[in-house]
Amino acid sequence: MDKILRINMGAEGGPKASTVPVGEYAGLGGRAMTSSIVSKEVPPLCHPLGADNKLVIAPGLLSGTTASQSGRISVGCKSPLTGTIKESNSGGQPSQVLARLGYAAIVLEGKPKEGNFYKIFINKDGVKITQDNSLCMLGNYYLVEKMKEEYGDKIACISIGPAGEMRMSAASVAFTDMEQRPTRHAGRGGSGAVMGSKGVKVIVLDDTGMSARVAKDTEAMRKANKAFVDGLRKHPVTGEGLPAFGTNILANVINEAGAYPTHNFQWGRFLGTSKISGETQAETEKARGGIPTHGCHRGCVIQCSGVYTDKDGHYLTKQPEYETVWAHGANCGIDDLDSIAMLDRLDDDYGLDTIEMGATIAVAMEAGLAKFGDAEAAIKLIKEVGKGTDLGRILGNGAAVTGKVFGVERIPVVKGQAMPAYDPRAIQGIGVTYATSTMGADHTAGYAVATNILKVGGYVDPLKPEGQVDLSRNLQIATAAVDSTGMCLFIAFAVLDQPDTFQALIDMLNAFYGLKLTADDVVALGKNVLKMEHDFNTRAGFTKEHDRLPEYFKKEALPPHNITFQVKDEDLDKIYNW
Ligand code: SF4
Repeated sequence: MDKILRINMGAEGGPKASTVPVGEYAGLGGRAMTSSIVSKEVPPLCHPLGADNKLVIAPGLLSGTTASQSGRISVGCKSPLTGTIKESNSGGQPSQVLARLGYAAIVLEGKPKEGNFYKIFINKDGVKITQDNSLCMLGNYYLVEKMKEEYGDKIACISIGPAGEMRMSAASVAFTDMEQRPTRHAGRGGSGAVMGSKGVKVIVLDDTGMSARVAKDTEAMRKANKAFVDGLRKHPVTGEGLPAFGTNILANVINEAGAYPTHNFQWGRFLGTSKISGETQAETEKARGGIPTHGCHRGCVIQCSGVYTDKDGHYLTKQPEYETVWAHGANCGIDDLDSIAMLDRLDDDYGLDTIEMGATIAVAMEAGLAKFGDAEAAIKLIKEVGKGTDLGRILGNGAAVTGKVFGVERIPVVKGQAMPAYDPRAIQGIGVTYATSTMGADHTAGYAVATNILKVGGYVDPLKPEGQVDLSRNLQIATAAVDSTGMCLFIAFAVLDQPDTFQALIDMLNAFYGLKLTADDVVALGKNVLKMEHDFNTRAGFTKEHDRLPEYFKKEALPPHNITFQVKDEDLDKIYNW
């Protein structure tokens, strides 16, 4: 991975690709790469959909190697949803394929003058960019089928659906999985709209003729990977819970904790949870011939994903994640897994962030556009988005826009981005992350749920403000580092709890690159990434006053604990004091 592919979509005479040495970005991967390029090359005050914004797609440091869990890919830009810097990452095959093709990043720059759409094909022989407006407004599923017809069945695709073409702020970038289905998404922050603004419908990757990247010390790499995999297998979360029931194993746990946001964050428990839990989902999948344990890319040993089939046993969608089941389920009062799976399928096909869309539909329900619990109405609303009707365009721009248009006060967003599936009043540590993350409300930025609820990496009482800022800060630093390796964030459960698994991760980096990194270097990397991102946001006009939860979280007590968000503003302001 010693080169960067830059494509100027606004070049005279049509898009121009140039392959340049990785240069000053050498040694960076994933989020460290995307945030470095965006922070250095994108004017912070630019319009997110304008020619000056860039879309950066970067595999992780260990992507394309034999390291387990190394297939995450980062997408970075200035976000049209939040106005902040954005890094959103995804599983799927493209990270491994792009890394094997030798690219440390693809950077889409400029903007086509006429509103044409292009497909970009990349293989060992180079890059071919073709205008193809026949692909316009195709859903991700059909689009990928067409690409397979054209380029064969060894490809991996990075694409947008109609939502990205319509430049909606909830638009995602889709990545194909091992079965070449567009089921994995860099969902958060509207990166799909930025790809749409660049006129890129799909990037097709083919690594035929390339082989896995080889470590400097292959024997040390093999040993470290084995120790890492053993560590993942022996931890109860990564070795048992996630493989058996997927991420949705959390539904019962978070509901029990009174932190499962219900009916647009009005309550912390949902009466229908048992009908949509991970346990019920896995049973349903098994009974119908679906798959409850499956990887989203080759080399994953945790296998938290799965395949969800309809009542007749036909493929409907990938196993909807915990966040998706919550967003379209409890948060909208819907307790029917088949309806939730259909909403997930539509979101993937249109290219939409399931968290943002679930939060948006719940806000629309609060506004009276549909009744809480009405699954058919929710499906109709998402179809409006796919069609791009006037109402659909409002909804497709997320919860904040929808709440504003329809006069709703209870809008659960930070910096314009919808909160995920944990109420910050009942899990105060995640509230600190929502408020202070450089990305807007984002649970993955510093997953305090692990320590507040799952007692991973220690324990901090979720209902008390004490210790939450320190917890969130440490997790945000660690996460920024993990996001740069290309490792799936779920390794964090084992890495936080088991020092030997953390050491195995560092050993893999050292064996691969011939380095002598220590734990302190990893922490320094995380801090550096956060510092760059925070600096970009400051130059974009964000102040500490933006690092706040919406007012009602401090005023409305959440049942069943009847508690408000307790962490003081002056303590939130200490998040970057390290
Ligand atoms: S643990 Fe889950 S999200 Fe992570 S790589 Fe495996 S299947 Fe993908």
